Amino acid sequence: MAGKKIKADRARKLEKEMLTCTLCGFCKSVCPYFEDNQWDPSVARGKVILAYGLARGEIPADESVVKRLYQCTTCKDCERRCPSNIQVVDIVEAVRADIVEAGCGLDAHTKIKENVKKTGNPYGESAKVDFGWPIKEAEVGYFVGCTARYRLPEIARHTISILKKLEVDFTMVEEVCCGSTLGRTGQDEKLASELMRTNFEAVKRLGVKTLIFTCAGCLRMFRKEYPKHLELGFEALHLTEFLARRKLEFKPFKKRIAYHDPCHMGRHLKVYDDPRKILKMIPESTYVELKDSKDSAKCCGGGGGVRSADPNAAQRIASRRVKAASDVADILVTACPFCVTNLRFGNDLIKVDVEIRDIAEIVDDLLIE
Ligand code: SF4
Ligand code: SF4
Repeated sequence: MAGKKIKADRARKLEKEMLTCTLCGFCKSVCPYFEDNQWDPSVARGKVILAYGLARGEIPADESVVKRLYQCTTCKDCERRCPSNIQVVDIVEAVRADIVEAGCGLDAHTKIKENVKKTGNPYGESAKVDFGWPIKEAEVGYFVGCTARYRLPEIARHTISILKKLEVDFTMVEEVCCGSTLGRTGQDEKLASELMRTNFEAVKRLGVKTLIFTCAGCLRMFRKEYPKHLELGFEALHLTEFLARRKLEFKPFKKRIAYHDPCHMGRHLKVYDDPRKILKMIPESTYVELKDSKDSAKCCGGGGGVRSADPNAAQRIASRRVKAASDVADILVTACPFCVTNLRFGNDLIKVDVEIRDIAEIVDDLLIE
């Protein structure tokens, strides 16, 4: 594909920031994509240079440039290491939106957008999923998210069961996709803002004051993106943040448990302590901290549209995280269905002896009523 010069209005607004890249290469030491393919254009500084070239109209948006700019899971680990404090994810997402607007985006992500348009979810599922809990007026709401609803419904069932055991008066929400997959891949900002408004109105009409999430991506949207457009008037909490405020009692569980920080909950929102606090309450278990954890946690490899556009890379990146966990733990627990699916996908490649579970499943299995 020859490619064409594109307008790149969004990227141009970040040109000054791009120019603060000193090409020092500190970002190389942490980037999961660079670890996977060792190609400089795949690391943060390479993407910044490509984005700058597009913004200045100096290079065309040809196949190789577009491919490299989508080799990013939006994990934010490079930003932590960057001495110039460059907001790499903002640059990547801005230039992706420019690429899509110019009609040069990737087919895998166009398909996701079409699915969302048609069905309200990125998987294109049209069947209604009924979790047997009503939509009603209540101060607490549960936003399931598309991955738990259509791919790992057991996470939603366990969450509902936990809330019932704790006698929380809660409601489900008449939800559509939170818009995260569109935002991360640069698709259709108008559609994303319509989704935000639809979800916002669905929550507001139920009188919800606290909205609970089990998906890190959805939570990040409601905490970071929704407030840019809407005055929410309710708090958005991950299930673990909601549970950590309560007194919980668990059955004993003689296992070594490690926790994987989802990037969108960890580095993006700084929620590190509450999931650990809960796991450490489990009697007779041993909590093991992974070598790369909290703000330096390795990415699962699935985010930022990578799982759909480059599944082999997503799988290899996940397999390294799973291997690290299997060396020290019996169970790798995380707090996001998307991480669960990608880590399991990673383990399909290496087949090591470690169970990968969502924290809602563990909590529900062990919680004493
Ligand atoms: S760490 Fe920051 S300044 Fe250094 S090369 Fe990477 S993006 Fe550029
Ligand atoms: S956000 Fe993550 S995947 Fe993207 S360039 Fe930075 S370290 Fe690499």
